[in-house]
Amino acid sequence: MKGCDDQNIQLYLDGELHGKNLEEFCGHLKKCTVCVQELKTEEELISLLHRTRPLYPAPEALRRRISSEHAMARLTGKKN
Ligand SMILES: [Zn+2]
Repeated sequence: MKGCDDQNIQLYLDGELHGKNLEEFCGHLKKCTVCVQELKTEEELISLLHRTRPLYPAPEALRRRISSEHAMARLTGKKN
């Protein structure tokens, strides 16, 4: 009996598992709850990353620059 292979899970998620390897892995998934759970966890993690990414479109450096420009404007701006 074949043991678990974390690399196969990663390849499967990347869509890099083909042919015989894919068949073997799918066959393994039917018997192995450990790998099924691992796969679920990975998929949740991936969908979580995809979901949260658009919420932070501005890189940290850009945001810092913008806020420092605001601070500068407040310090130097002399509005009459
Ligand atoms: Zn397994």
